[in-house]
Parts: sequence; structure tokens; C-alpha cells
Amino acid sequence: MEISGKTKLVGIFGDPVDHTISPAMQNAAFEALFLDMAYIPFHVRKSPAYDLKAAIASIRALNLRGVNITIPHKEKVLKYLDEVDPDARAIGAVNTIVNRNGKLVGYNTDGPGYLLSLKEDTGFTVRGKRIVILGAGGAARAILRSALEKKPASIVVANRTLKRAEDLVSEFESTFTAEMQAVRLDGSLAPFAKKASLVVNTTSIGMKGSGTLDFPLEALPKGAVVSDIVYVPLETEFLSAAKARGLRVHYGLSMLVRQGALTFELWTGKKAPIEVMQRAALAALSLK
Ligand code: NAP
Repeated sequence: MEISGKTKLVGIFGDPVDHTISPAMQNAAFEALFLDMAYIPFHVRKSPAYDLKAAIASIRALNLRGVNITIPHKEKVLKYLDEVDPDARAIGAVNTIVNRNGKLVGYNTDGPGYLLSLKEDTGFTVRGKRIVILGAGGAARAILRSALEKKPASIVVANRTLKRAEDLVSEFESTFTAEMQAVRLDGSLAPFAKKASLVVNTTSIGMKGSGTLDFPLEALPKGAVVSDIVYVPLETEFLSAAKARGLRVHYGLSMLVRQGALTFELWTGKKAPIEVMQRAALAALSLK
């Protein structure tokens, strides 16, 4: 990659950003399509809060083509943008900003990226299905909102902190027709598992081998899909156990690559080279 005065710059704002594999994934895609673009991580501190405001203003000042936004800024950034895509507004979080001639527009590619990768990898479509979401954090929220748009029959949100799951369900249940229920994430999920076509782990359990999910995989119907958005390790204990039971599985890395691909398309207007991005993400992860 050669950087010159003509190179269009993009990047990521987060705290921390040292672990991100997005630069590897996006720069590989730019190179594959011979685009004169470069992706740079920027450590935008959580505190003081005015750092984020100044960083967002710098997108205009430095004429960046756009940025990714990651933890802990995804929610706070909305108030500094000129326009927010209605889906991102409903999710309440932005992970991608596009600079359209000085107008900063926010999007969220996490939810759509999740559903696209799920469909591509397993053929799973949401309409009319019963879904169990484990977790009620930021990622759960994005996946829940995007899934609700596709008219599932029901969604159960199970979380360690019940109140957080209840708040999520009460926020969305009046807007959508799907049956919704909030429950505690403990050993009592078998009645929900029995009817589920999809269970997705959106908690950080299993990340870098931390903890074990308390979910009765044995109660799931034969054709069910088990999905885990954690991607370090690539195959979590949860997915290994599901595979051992002959269930179909969906990997977190696939979501990561797909959300990155959607971001790439927003910035460039070109179809993302998914396989190139997947290979680069895998190579970057193997170095961690
Ligand atoms: P978050 O907003 O902090 O939410 C964390 C969730 O995990 C909450 O539901 C929390 O429950 C639960 N949790 C954490 N530790 C737990 C434990 N020991 N026992 C039970 N529940 C626990 O985080 P997030 O942004 O949603 O991210 C969650 C995970 O998804 C992370 O591992 C992240 O790396 C991954 N992720 C992957 C992708 C991808 O593209 N593949 C995208 C986004 C996120 P409480 O409410 O009870 O605290």
C-alpha cells in the first residue's frame, strides 16, 4: 500500500483499539480492488468526553471518508452526527460513519451483518421462526432489532441481569408483532430451547475461554442452528458442544467479516471482496 496526498483515509475510533482486526480486513479489501484508500486505528479516549466530540469534528476537518466506531463510543456518538440511519437510530448505536461532503451520516452494520452471515453460512431465515438470544448488551440489541424486522414468530431474551433483558423487550414489544419474553440466563431454559430454531450467544462468555454457557443444547430440535458471535477463539466451547451434537453452527468471525463488508460498501460503493476480508481477518487473529 502506498499512501500519497490522494489517498482517501478511513479509520476506527475506540478505547481501546489495539486489539482491532478491522485495519487488516479493510486494507486487504482496498488493495484487492486497487482502491487508493487506507484504514487507520485512532485511540479516542473514553474520558474526557470532549475527546469524542473533537474526534468526530476531525472527520470533517481532515476530510476522512468515514470511520468505524467501537466500544465505548457507539451510543454516545449519535448526538454528534448530522444524520442517523433509521435502523441505527432504533438500535441506538452507530458503528459506521460516512462523510458525504461534510455531512456525517451514521449507520449500524452489526445487526444486518449478523443476519446476512447467518443466512449465507446456514441458510437460516428469520421469518416465522422461534429464536433465543442469550445476552442483552449492545450486540444483542442490534441483532434483536434487525431480527424483529424480519418477522420471527417469537424471541426470548435471556440475560444474567434480568432487568436488562426486560428493558430491551419492553422497548421493542409494542412496535413489532413477534411474541417476546425476557428471562434469566440460568439452567432453566429447556422449555424455550425445545421450540427454538436458532439460539445465539451474544454474551462475552466463552471469549478467550472465559466461563461456560449454561444452556441446554440437548433440548434443541435436530435442525436448530447454534450461533455464537464471540470470535476469540474462532470456535467457542458452546459451538464445539453444538457441533458434537450434530447441530448446525454459525461463527462469530463470519458476522465480523460481514459487518465489515457492509461498511466497506457504504464507504466505497463497491461490492466487498468477502473472501479476501475473511482471509485477512483470520490471518490477523492468528497473530493475536
Ligand atoms: P456488552 O454490551 O458489554 O454486553 C455483554 C453481555 O454479556 C451482557 O448481556 C452481559 O450480561 C453478558 N455477560 C458478560 N459476562 C457475563 C457472565 N460472566 N455471565 C453471564 N453473562 C455475562 O457487550 P457487547 O458489545 O454486546 O458484546 C458482547 C460480545 O459479543 C463480546 O464478546 C464481543 O466481542 C462480541 N461481539 C462480536 C461481534 C462480531 O462481529 N462477531 C460484534 C459485536 C460484539 P449482564 O447484562 O448481566 O452484564
